[in-house]
Amino acid sequence: MDYHSPASFAEASALAINATGITRFLAGGTDVLVQLRSELVTPDTLIDIKKINGVHDITRNSDGSWTLGVAATGAEMSDHPELGLDWPGVVEAMDLIGSTQVQGRATLTGNLCNGSPAADSVPAMVAAGVTVTITGPEGVRDMAVEDIPTGPGKTALAKGEVISAINIPARGENGGDAYLRFIPRTEMDIAVVGVGVNLRLDGDTITEARVSLGAVAPTVLLVDDAARAIIGTTLDDAALDALAAAASGACNPIDDKRGTIAFRTEVAGVLAKRTAKIAYARAKGEQA
Ligand SMILES: Cc1cc2nc3c(=O)[nH]c(=O)nc-3n(C[C@H](O)[C@H](O)[C@H](O)COP(=O)(O)OP(=O)(O)OC[C@H]3O[C@@H](n4cnc5c(N)ncnc54)[C@H](O)[C@@H]3O)c2cc1C
Repeated sequence: MDYHSPASFAEASALAINATGITRFLAGGTDVLVQLRSELVTPDTLIDIKKINGVHDITRNSDGSWTLGVAATGAEMSDHPELGLDWPGVVEAMDLIGSTQVQGRATLTGNLCNGSPAADSVPAMVAAGVTVTITGPEGVRDMAVEDIPTGPGKTALAKGEVISAINIPARGENGGDAYLRFIPRTEMDIAVVGVGVNLRLDGDTITEARVSLGAVAPTVLLVDDAARAIIGTTLDDAALDALAAAASGACNPIDDKRGTIAFRTEVAGVLAKRTAKIAYARAKGEQA
């Protein structure tokens, strides 16, 4: 196996484009190294991106948006004094991943690029409208998070492309986000359903919303019907019921020992209601 630790994303991209066989980027390694040790995936080329300048930085930009380095860990996100005030849903989704030890290494980037339909941070990022910056042989481009996963274990990244930054929008006024997942036990399990909701209020009325579902389809879902069900409402019972119906209606889950199709579909509606209520309370400043 060839191991590289490039000093720039351009160098990382060039290494990847010239590599043959299986290539993996090494961010936290909590997927890559587990897959390697269990002989599920043995990369021919491992490109460690942690030596690149700024990859642990968490920066609030002058317009209020955030730029996160691709190796910023869950622990670094949770410890940041302001990120969680703006985007509690994104931070709590990342914070659900693994144990304290895993939190010290795991990243948003790795969670996204591993391509698991059950990845916890991905629905929260989609709801928040997060984009990623990609460095590749053709230059640098931005892409919405919802466009990155193309199927279990697959992404839209072309050979030689590496994510070089995570971009979270400015929070703005009267907004709130939240993420909830259902797992069969209280810790260290894979989401059977995950829901991210992000919304903005004018007074008590929802003016903008994004609703995202994880673990109920081959890729994360951005459910426009679910957003439409609550926009223009005060999240009354009728709106919540319409939200639940839209969320359940969007599901196309697998049937396995962790949850039947019927169960996942039902839980998606229930969790969408609960998540929206938390996001709404946060937008009103009533809940941390
Ligand atoms: C004990 C344990 C518990 C876990 N619990 C959960 C859980 O509850 N929820 C959950 O969602 N996940 C969980 N995971 C999975 C894992 O921790 C997460 O997916 C984590 O966020 C991966 O991040 P990483 O930085 O470690 O990724 P890595 O292992 O470094 O990389 C993962 C993938 O991303 C690619 N990649 C990394 N960086 C880049 C880049 N810059 N550009 C392009 N591709 C890149 C790699 O090539 C690889 O394919 C758990 C893992 C363990 C070991």
